[in-house]
Amino acid sequence: MAKYVMALDAGTTSNRCILFNEKGEICSMAQKEFTQYYPQPGWVEHDASEIWQTQLSVARQAMKQVGATYEDIAAIGITNQRETVIVWDRKTGQPVYHAIVWQCRRTADMKDELLAKYPDIADSAYHKTGLVFDPYFSGTKLRWILNNVEGLRERAEAGELAFGTVDSWLIYKLTKGKVHATDYSNASRTLLFNINTLEWDDELCERLEIPKCMLPEAKPSSCFYGESDPEFFGGPIKITGVAGDQQAALFGQTCYTPGEAKNTYGTGCFMLMNIGDKPMYPNNGLLTTIAWGLDGRVEYALEGSVFVAGAAIQWLRDEVKMVDQSPDSEYFATRVKDTNGCYVVPAFTGLGAPYWDPYARGAIVGLTRGVNKYHIIRATLESLAFQTNDVLAAMEEGSGVKLSALKVDGGACKNNFLMQFQADLINAKVQRPECVETTAMGASYLAGLEVGFWASKQDVIKNWALDREFEPNMDAETRAHELGQWKKAVSKTLGWAKD
Ligand code: ADP
Repeated sequence: MAKYVMALDAGTTSNRCILFNEKGEICSMAQKEFTQYYPQPGWVEHDASEIWQTQLSVARQAMKQVGATYEDIAAIGITNQRETVIVWDRKTGQPVYHAIVWQCRRTADMKDELLAKYPDIADSAYHKTGLVFDPYFSGTKLRWILNNVEGLRERAEAGELAFGTVDSWLIYKLTKGKVHATDYSNASRTLLFNINTLEWDDELCERLEIPKCMLPEAKPSSCFYGESDPEFFGGPIKITGVAGDQQAALFGQTCYTPGEAKNTYGTGCFMLMNIGDKPMYPNNGLLTTIAWGLDGRVEYALEGSVFVAGAAIQWLRDEVKMVDQSPDSEYFATRVKDTNGCYVVPAFTGLGAPYWDPYARGAIVGLTRGVNKYHIIRATLESLAFQTNDVLAAMEEGSGVKLSALKVDGGACKNNFLMQFQADLINAKVQRPECVETTAMGASYLAGLEVGFWASKQDVIKNWALDREFEPNMDAETRAHELGQWKKAVSKTLGWAKD
């Protein structure tokens, strides 16, 4: 009997491997960072070979730590940084260019060029892919590689090259080139995949000049992809779960009923809400994305992101030096009873959902003589909750669902002051689970469900244990006042950097 499911968590700065047991407990974990390349301002690249080597080494290390053999592992689940583009040679299995990372802005001009050439492309792409037409997604990044690296377009058209996001690349390497596939959740971030028909879209591929022969086969998130080559772990292990990191976290948080949502408080915030088996297009700055394909059906999610969340706390630490460590922010924030009327809007890189203003810039407003460091720290922490509330309000408006509880994870969810203020603002419960490794957990659940390690989703839900629940405790009048002041503060920052 296998004891574990192996989750491969291929992140943006490090790769991890976690072995989970049947109770969803972490039995072994290994992690390794890899190199970030910044060849020009605004550009971000990774070495795809290093991603593979790092991932393989942490997988072996996690097994070694508990003396596991391949027979102890029921299945492998993969979760990954999304949208990042890798192109490789089908024959040699070697990448032909560095991976272009989701954060990379090199195709901003290309986006404008395509919008000028095809005035309807943004609207049509939204209704096909659920995404805003933005250089963040894979499509323009892949086009950039084919147009800018000599000889690659010809080779791609001749069928010699393969494209994949990081999941796809890892599947290809693990199976020694036998399988070229991705899952629906990752495919739905490429700007090339029709989330209604579950097929690569001919028109988008044509307009973005992507030869369809280089695209992977798109499959459900929980299904048999192939077996890892025996060379890697001493024998074959089935790969049966694949999902992008945010969708995997939604799955790990067991948000299986439409209307359930999770928010991850990391560098930025990512909120996803399960909307059931039909996509919706509220057109209010949120993305519509495939949550997962499982049990012969596909479920969708609304997604909204906040660019600067935990990063604002890092700013307090590294730039303004008001705290030595991020967790200290909680202690300082609770030294005062409020922010003394001051608001921090950390729009350092513009504002994401629901404002989408690249020209917004940060501000501290409402300063009076009595505002001190503690007030500013408190206001910075509160800004994470205000921004989350803005996204949630857009989600509730778009889906017509009033949330009853928000499940949370990510580094900053450990901050009790922040979680209480969050509950107060959204006027709903905030639930923090014991295990906040929800991304890896989601990937392991998707994999384990396919091989019967867990019998059903009900089986998995039992593993979700509450660490702490925060009940809303703010009167309606105060809440309305706070939200009004926040809106006013945001309005001061919009368009700031525009000439
Ligand atoms: P990521 O996966 O984006 O690297 P993590 O989920 O590891 O992020 O969370 C790290 C972020 O959370 C950092 O930006 C850090 O400043 C913030 N953070 C961590 N602990 C706390 C805390 N107790 N209070 C506030 N912010 C915190």
